[in-house]
Amino acid sequence: MRILTTIQEMRLACRQARHNAGADSSLALVPTMGAIHQGHLSLVEAAREECDVVAASIFVNPLQFGPTEDFARYPRTFDDDCAKFSAAGVDLLFAPAPEEMYPAGATTFVEVAKLSERLDGASRPGHFRGVATVVNKLFHIVSPDVAFFGQKDASQVAVLQAMVRDLNLPIRIAVCPIVREADGLAMSSRNRYLSPEQRTQALALCRALRHVEERIHQGETSAAILRAAAAEELSREPALRLDYIEIVDPNTLEPATSVVAGTLIALAAWVGETRLIDNLRVALAP
Ligand code: AMP
Repeated sequence: MRILTTIQEMRLACRQARHNAGADSSLALVPTMGAIHQGHLSLVEAAREECDVVAASIFVNPLQFGPTEDFARYPRTFDDDCAKFSAAGVDLLFAPAPEEMYPAGATTFVEVAKLSERLDGASRPGHFRGVATVVNKLFHIVSPDVAFFGQKDASQVAVLQAMVRDLNLPIRIAVCPIVREADGLAMSSRNRYLSPEQRTQALALCRALRHVEERIHQGETSAAILRAAAAEELSREPALRLDYIEIVDPNTLEPATSVVAGTLIALAAWVGETRLIDNLRVALAP
């Protein structure tokens, strides 16, 4: 695996890798913020399966963190991340410094209106402007054919799909399923902030989703009733502070009144200082 830290080197390395892999070769990009876990590696696996060359990035993007958020203490485990990515078959790893990505005086941003104010965007003003801007920049640097993202960040997927559509980017967004720990907790770099006690409390998120799934299997379709059921389930864990429970169309992120196949049920909650998210897509029409 080659590690590139400047935009110029990364551009060149991508071009060379494509050239070496042959005229019709395909290139994948897996953008991350590091602290690599099995969720990230599942994206690399999917990318390996589909594309000839796999590029990944590690960049803790200052632009997507609010002033009171965890940018400074976000886990940075670069050597360990490199070992994991290399073993998983990443060919090119782009790991720029913030000054490389944001030269002084940069004033151009990508704003996906409306969608960026829903779900996580409602709780984290400016977050999706930061995400859309950095992903757009990564797309221009790497020029991938396919970019791999996790369903874990469902509102991010909706924002990026809209960006690709609206700006006519010649890139396909591939979405990979949520990877969970054995007990159901969705894997996240932020899970390492949790104390053992908080780790147990955090299980309420996936429990609430499983409860809602069960109610849907039993035939419940009313979004209001399912939302209330999720809220009640979450309230059983008093240490949890609810941010949102939303039942929405996965593309527009607009509220649904009843669930159909594909409807997104997403929630976010605070466990101590740590904000966690989880979601499910309704599998079958009830
Ligand atoms: P992050 O490093 O948190 O920005 O995540 C980088 C990518 O990995 C994003 O596309 C996430 O949606 C994805 N991802 C993070 N956690 C998981 C997970 N548990 N399962 C699947 N994908 C994930």
